[in-house]
Amino acid sequence: MEVRSRDLDFGVRNGELGMGKNAIGRQMPDLLIEGGVAITMVNGEAPIPKARVLVSNGRIIGIGKVEEVRIPLDGQFEIIDAHDAIIMPGLINVHTHAAMTLFRGMADDLPLKQWLLKKIFPAEAKFLTPETVYWGALLGCLEMIASGTTCFADGYFFQDQTIRAAHAAGLRGLIAQGVIDFPAPGIPDPRENIRIAKEFIERWLGFSDRVIPGIFCHSPLTCSGQTLRNAWEISKEHQLPLQIHLSETVEEVNEIIKRYGTRPVPYLDRLGLVDGSLIAAHGVHLDSSEMARLKEKGAKIAHVPESNMKLGSGVAEISQMIEIGLTVGLGTDGCSSNNNLDLFCEMDTATKLAKVFDRNPMSLNAGVTLRMATVGGAAVLGLEKEIGTLEQGKRADIIVVDLKSPHLCPVYDPVSALVYSANGGDVKDVIVNGRVLMKDKEFMTVDADEVMGKVREISQRIGGAGSR
Ligand SMILES: [Zn+2]
Repeated sequence: MEVRSRDLDFGVRNGELGMGKNAIGRQMPDLLIEGGVAITMVNGEAPIPKARVLVSNGRIIGIGKVEEVRIPLDGQFEIIDAHDAIIMPGLINVHTHAAMTLFRGMADDLPLKQWLLKKIFPAEAKFLTPETVYWGALLGCLEMIASGTTCFADGYFFQDQTIRAAHAAGLRGLIAQGVIDFPAPGIPDPRENIRIAKEFIERWLGFSDRVIPGIFCHSPLTCSGQTLRNAWEISKEHQLPLQIHLSETVEEVNEIIKRYGTRPVPYLDRLGLVDGSLIAAHGVHLDSSEMARLKEKGAKIAHVPESNMKLGSGVAEISQMIEIGLTVGLGTDGCSSNNNLDLFCEMDTATKLAKVFDRNPMSLNAGVTLRMATVGGAAVLGLEKEIGTLEQGKRADIIVVDLKSPHLCPVYDPVSALVYSANGGDVKDVIVNGRVLMKDKEFMTVDADEVMGKVREISQRIGGAGSR
């Protein structure tokens, strides 16, 4: 069990223990990060040069310039050296299917329908078991840690295993049980899909406040109106977000119009699903009135540009969404349609794709894009009070990006360097809830060789069955 926020006292007591105005004096730090430039992502706050961050009991208790944030002389704490580096909030992946690392590179260069029906669904039916999902999800967690993601929203099957993997790795997440009206891995009878999702949520709710269970409807085409409504009721009952794939392709939109006589957003609206708990992934083919309705009802968008590009689905009109004030976060989607979980690469793609789509080099600038991957992601998941920025009282989900590489020299603007020049491989330290998951590029929670070995073994079974 994690320590819950109500158990902690965050009252500021300036000066106690001689720790200065930017630290909570009563608490002794257990982790110190210092030396680099801190990008806090707090609105309007400039980068802090030669920064120091103090962490205690999973929370940030002090942040500022080294000379402003004093530390107790007799304290014993772990130190992360961030000289020649950027200290920033961990990135938040708002849409993925972590265990799909198992199918990375197995079915490339295909349109969505063919990719899904001819390759992915059959491979999932044949090869997904609790064991394979565990190792695939753990590999996903490792990859996310390695590339600076500290929190992820996941939707898949056998999700007890993804929760186990997130716990083993130490990541934060919203991990949702998949619901689809076909026989699916772990759900041979689709009439059981809602019951299984409900039991999954009840099993894990309250187990940890770092890993939250949820419900993920595959799409408005693969779930009936009744299934969608039942899923919504469960999400409402437990005040959890409801994830769904929405308006990914033109074909999907046309099919919904044919079946239900209206476009996807009005259709979901009719069912009562469009509200502040809805997280809609893709949103490639939303018209202006659909975007306006999502904004009006407080629904959230998971923007997954690389997956949309790889499957040739189209370009989500992200500039317009941001302009009207929709809450947007960034995701990678699963590894089979990306083919990695690197949010630094996703930021680079997102901004350049928006520029080329809008034919405007000022579209989705570096600052807006970085917000989407941090603050925006936190808001999409309803966790904005806990994560997404570096500030006193927030959870210590922090990454350190090493700048000692040729492609990061020189740095005029750290935000520009992070979005346009860096990649996930530049991340050297990762902290979640105050726990160090990667230090100097060394994984601290999981045996990476063992995980990769297991996934290679599984991939031989998949490849050997002639899935390609
Ligand atoms: Zn997806």
